[in-house]
Amino acid sequence: MMIEINRRLLLGGAGLALAAPSLMTRAAFAQGADTAMSIDHAMPPETHRFKLGSFEVVVVKDGARASGKPQETFGTNQTPEAVGELLTANFLPAENFVNSFAPVLVNTGSEVILFDTGLGEGGRANGLGRLVEGLTAAGYKREDVTIVVITHMHGDHIGGLMEGGNPAFPNARYVTGQAEYDFWADPARVGTPAEGGHKGVLANVKPLAEKMTFIGDGGDVVGGITGMAAFGHSPGHMIYRLESEGRQLVLAADTANHFVLSLQRPEWEVKFDMDKAAAAETRKRVFDMIATDKLAFIGYHMPFPAVGYVEKLDTGYRYVPKSYQFDI
Ligand SMILES: [Zn+2]
Repeated sequence: MMIEINRRLLLGGAGLALAAPSLMTRAAFAQGADTAMSIDHAMPPETHRFKLGSFEVVVVKDGARASGKPQETFGTNQTPEAVGELLTANFLPAENFVNSFAPVLVNTGSEVILFDTGLGEGGRANGLGRLVEGLTAAGYKREDVTIVVITHMHGDHIGGLMEGGNPAFPNARYVTGQAEYDFWADPARVGTPAEGGHKGVLANVKPLAEKMTFIGDGGDVVGGITGMAAFGHSPGHMIYRLESEGRQLVLAADTANHFVLSLQRPEWEVKFDMDKAAAAETRKRVFDMIATDKLAFIGYHMPFPAVGYVEKLDTGYRYVPKSYQFDI
């Protein structure tokens, strides 16, 4: 998959959407810049802060990118017309879409936990990789982070782990899914479509493995933050359920990647879902839970600040952005 993305960028094709690999060279990004328009010029990067019980949650906009031909990413088993019609019905342009990236910091009072790391230095040429800049604007230094949780190992989530060949969060330990690490770190990926992702994990994740705790379904990061298996988007994709003083939030990572196309039509195939059938099943299971329990969730690729709710509909789910629910 990563190889395919690299090739698209190198050939000057449409901009990559969901899985921006960290292993890309700066040259590749520079060429990609011709077609992948940077649309995020906020100074400093946008951040959004709210309280979840006694936890402070800070969502940071690592960046955003506009791309063309939505159907080639969302609804690859549908016609461009069907995808365009659903977009138009939701007041969105039919020919282009915006994808954004939203790492989340959770300060529990005793730990400062970062969930995913954005595109990192590999994205800067395109105006992406702004996580640390955003954290600084929100009052957090890189050194403050005590735990980095990686939901899965696509490049737009692990790209910010290393900076200039050194750990970007020098005082952190790490938590990630055992199945995810085992898949990407395995030399058996060489010569397969996952080879590019394998190399990215060797560069950005493996050097940190000694400080990593590997968990599975039901594993805790700390008290009140529990991992749940949500496989499909990637082989070991994990999501996290947070609870503090009775307030709950699900960090749903890449379970759904477009707030209309993936939520209203959870069965539509998404290019970057590595196991498309499993990803669709997981989408329905996770968002059925979120809808039934009326939970707030943060989706890494939802429109910034990426926090909302879903209402179950006949065909899928209606996304409702958070407003003042956590202010009172
Ligand atoms: Zn992603």
